[in-house]
Amino acid sequence: MNGKITFVGAGPGAPDLITVRGAEALKRADLVVYAGSLVNEKLLDYARNAELVNSAKLSLDEVLALLCNGYHAGKSVVRLHTGDPAMYGAVSEQYRELDKQDIPYEVVPGVSSAFAAAAALKTEYTMPGLSMSVIMTRDAGRTPVPEKEALPSLAAHDCTMCIFLSAGNMRALIGKLRAAGRPEDTPVAVVYRASWENEKIVRGTLADIAERVEEAGIKRQAMIVVGKALNREQGGLSSLYDRNFAHGYRAAAGTEPFRGKCAVFGMTREGIAKALEIASGLTEADVFVPEKYASLVPEHRRVIYPDGRSKQAIARAWGIYRGFVMVMAAGIVVRHIAPLCGSKTSDPAVVVCDERGDYAVSLLSGHIGGANRLASDVARITGGKAVVTTASDVRGMTAFDELASRFHYRVNNPGAILKVSSHLLENGRVEVRMPRVLYDRFYADDARVVFCGESRDISVSVPGTETVLRMEAPRFFLGIGCRKGTGIAALRAAVAEVLKRSWVLMDCVEGFASADLKREEKGLLEFARETGKKLRFFSKKKLNAQKVEHPSEYAMKHLGIHSVSEAASLLAAGKGAALVTGKTVCGSVTVAVARQMKKTAL
Ligand code: SAH
Repeated sequence: MNGKITFVGAGPGAPDLITVRGAEALKRADLVVYAGSLVNEKLLDYARNAELVNSAKLSLDEVLALLCNGYHAGKSVVRLHTGDPAMYGAVSEQYRELDKQDIPYEVVPGVSSAFAAAAALKTEYTMPGLSMSVIMTRDAGRTPVPEKEALPSLAAHDCTMCIFLSAGNMRALIGKLRAAGRPEDTPVAVVYRASWENEKIVRGTLADIAERVEEAGIKRQAMIVVGKALNREQGGLSSLYDRNFAHGYRAAAGTEPFRGKCAVFGMTREGIAKALEIASGLTEADVFVPEKYASLVPEHRRVIYPDGRSKQAIARAWGIYRGFVMVMAAGIVVRHIAPLCGSKTSDPAVVVCDERGDYAVSLLSGHIGGANRLASDVARITGGKAVVTTASDVRGMTAFDELASRFHYRVNNPGAILKVSSHLLENGRVEVRMPRVLYDRFYADDARVVFCGESRDISVSVPGTETVLRMEAPRFFLGIGCRKGTGIAALRAAVAEVLKRSWVLMDCVEGFASADLKREEKGLLEFARETGKKLRFFSKKKLNAQKVEHPSEYAMKHLGIHSVSEAASLLAAGKGAALVTGKTVCGSVTVAVARQMKKTAL
């Protein structure tokens, strides 16, 4: 009988940084051929039953002979490479030869040293505003590098770089980065033997790193990381945690997600995979799965039913779950639920989705039951399209109460919402006063909504009736921190960006606030003047007495203040103020947004 060849990524060094699959392969192995000094020999402890061969001194032919003979002798052979085999693993020539001889093999990935170095440095290679790409490369050594990939041309991209196999000649390397125009203060970190007992980290800049690395005696087995991403403090915020960014798994503020527990059904293998993807994105959901596919679904999520009994399973779940997502043909769903349907006010939401997740059809209880919302949740998760057929939604208009919730307005008389929307549904006209920017953006093309004047608060009236929906504008203060000498353009851009992300209109900004020591900051003063808004300053003492969400080590170290933007915004907004957007870094400017509490009449 033939054996089995598995190429395994050993990870960066620490024996517990191999994958579970990789360790299992070692445990089963009869023969392990491991690649030299960067594979931690502790890993070989997993391979209790195997013959061990260090390939450092072997030629390619000798290695291949070991693998092939092992295979033909029916052995389980592991070829163990450092990090991930796909990075400078010299595996392709081995794959090629095995292919030629028609010998099958498998590949198990590993943690590359590029990522072990990031972990050691506690850094993120991709940070908004600093770098959104990583170049993994090496300096040309004995192994040549294609001309178009020569370091000076790659380094001309301002992004993060992970440079392998190049610590031996730091001076030459740095020279090439300079030649590419990277500035002298570009951060560089060198991680020697990431994740090993004797790991060493040297940090510096283009100006001094070569010297520091020499002093530390590092010449090999090191990852060189270059780029501004190493300055964690300067990074912007990823939109991932932005409350206004509709991520696949989180609905943006203002678009209400479906509330209530869902049952998600799939029938085929592929359908169940999609059902699981959907269930993990919903707030609360179980996956219903026939017995034969039970192992595809993690235990904490699954409800197993006997094969071929989906109809009964749906019937049992009806009345218990508020939402049903059915990943299957609509016909099956219609037949199964027909006898269960009761009334508009009591039926659960039912959404049908195809196996590819292209369409999420709101099938039953679109409005009251929330199937329209559930359909849009499902579509967001799968990247598909929600199909909604109920009347008020096809009119394609942003409802006024939705607008209010998005832009932090307060609805003063919610009772009027229904009157306004039913009037609109019958194609009636309404007259509005609101900020022009909102009208232009949401209603300008809708003949039913007539603009009757600019106003910070919003009012929507139904002509010829008493009905006026009133929504009151919120008030905000922006806390601003900036580096010395920051120009007005940078401030303008940073504030605009943060307002956009926070769904805050400039009209609703009362003023700006900063630290005392910015009183003479020209750009800031000019910016406040240009906007015609207040500008307030707070002493170090006051700022430090204010509790904030994201204190900054950097500001503490350089200014002795634990937070400028957050603390100043909260202080300016006064008692009961709430932070709407925490410290957001945009280049040399940080901005936070605090909302004023509504002033109550005394
Ligand atoms: N396949 C490996 C890379 C092999 S090339 C991987 O994915 O990591 C060998 C080079 O990788 C070394 O010269 C060094 O630049 C880097 N390297 C490997 N292990 C390392 C470690 N533990 N710490 C830092 N660099 C390492």
